[in-house]
Amino acid sequence: MASERSYIMIKPDGVQRNLVGEIIKRFEAKGYKLVGLKMLMVDRGLAEKHYADLSSKPFFSALVDYIISGPVVSMVWEGREVVKMGRTIIGATKPSESAPGTIRGDFCIEVGRNVIHGSDSVESANHEIGLWFPEGVAEYESSQKAWIYE
Ligand code: UDP
Ligand code: MG
Repeated sequence: MASERSYIMIKPDGVQRNLVGEIIKRFEAKGYKLVGLKMLMVDRGLAEKHYADLSSKPFFSALVDYIISGPVVSMVWEGREVVKMGRTIIGATKPSESAPGTIRGDFCIEVGRNVIHGSDSVESANHEIGLWFPEGVAEYESSQKAWIYE
């Protein structure tokens, strides 16, 4: 099985709006394996590093302020094509363009309050996991593996 990992983060609005359980439930129910999980207050430097690619955008400083405005839930999920499928589960960046049934389509209205982050490529996932989980993640084999993968 070719497995991969994605960095998924429930943003401060997702935490404050009590969406933590709902979001975890969707990834768990799909069949992905949780290998990293923690709640933290993000410092400005980490938020700026995480969004470094967007530093020239007009919304950058508002985005950083948003990410540091309250605790986030940082996660690493593992499974086949979890990066691409994670983005599908999350929905389009703009909630107005996110399909119903996706997390953003179901739970938010504004792009600046879109409740969740998900890595956009395997390369950025590996970079983000290194940034957010320098301590590493849990290495284990799921007892459900044979019931999820042929
Ligand atoms: N964002 C924003 N205004 C925009 C575009 C993006 O506030 O016009 C925020 C939004 O929270 C988004 C984040 O910046 O999730 C990162 O933008 P990106 O284009 O990477 O979208 P994502 O990968 O989160 O879908
Ligand atoms: Mg992005």
